[in-house]
Amino acid sequence: MARLNLRLKENAPGPLYVDETCIDCDTCRQMAPEIYGESRGLSYVMRQPESRDEKLRALQALVACPTASIGGAKGAEVRDALATFPQRIDGPVHDCGLRAESSFGATSYLVLRPAGNVLVDSPRAAGPLLDRVEASGGVRLLFLTHRDDVADHARLHARFSCDRVLHRDDVSRSTREVELQLQGGDPVELGPGLLAIPVPGHTRGSCALLVDGEYLFTGDHLWAAEDGSLEMGRSVCWYSWDEQVRSLEKLLAHSFRWVLPGHGRRARAGSAAEMHAKLRRLLRDLRR
Ligand code: SF4
Repeated sequence: MARLNLRLKENAPGPLYVDETCIDCDTCRQMAPEIYGESRGLSYVMRQPESRDEKLRALQALVACPTASIGGAKGAEVRDALATFPQRIDGPVHDCGLRAESSFGATSYLVLRPAGNVLVDSPRAAGPLLDRVEASGGVRLLFLTHRDDVADHARLHARFSCDRVLHRDDVSRSTREVELQLQGGDPVELGPGLLAIPVPGHTRGSCALLVDGEYLFTGDHLWAAEDGSLEMGRSVCWYSWDEQVRSLEKLLAHSFRWVLPGHGRRARAGSAAEMHAKLRRLLRDLRR
């Protein structure tokens, strides 16, 4: 629960506010950029929502916030915002909404598939969200892109009896019981239309998941900047920057139109060729 006595002074007058427990994960600013801004490394309410649509998105951010740092609403309007998750992004791909603090607010995605749904990284495993995931067919596979975004994987496994996937190089004590531990650097087909692609760099065992040659889930390997170009972050590279750049180059062997990261913005291109052009541009900039 956000606390009024910790309310940031930057918040616009009105009921909605951010308190000083914010960890600057950027979720609220991505979900409702006209409402939430950034100051001193924290989010705040730039202006109170006015229209119905603005209010809904502001409250979606409130329920998504991994640290419950947004306050000023309760009851039915909050439950209604919660009930909008998982929220469709494109085709079968949905944003689970609720972020976990232990994964620093990383996005978890639900991909609806006839042969069994795939969850990419772990959302905050709150009951109402899990009930909605169950109503959408549950989860067959939980793909963990890397060691930092595993959050509530054990609870998800217990609820859905799903197989979890993680590269062996990122397995730790808390994930040693993961059912499928990938090895080596070659892509692995997990099922029709599901390709795990090792992309070491951010962590040693980072992997991307390519779905239907269209959607690439990248964890913390690759994301989009505000202008839609692609980005990687040397300051958040925990294993090897050189390897991360090599992993980026390997992605040119695959076709996809979407980049769906754990942190950062999503990138969409009109064609695989356009996405490859973005990749090549980033590679060129990184080698300058
Ligand atoms: S979602 Fe919460 S923790 Fe993340 S930036 Fe917004 S207020 Fe801060």
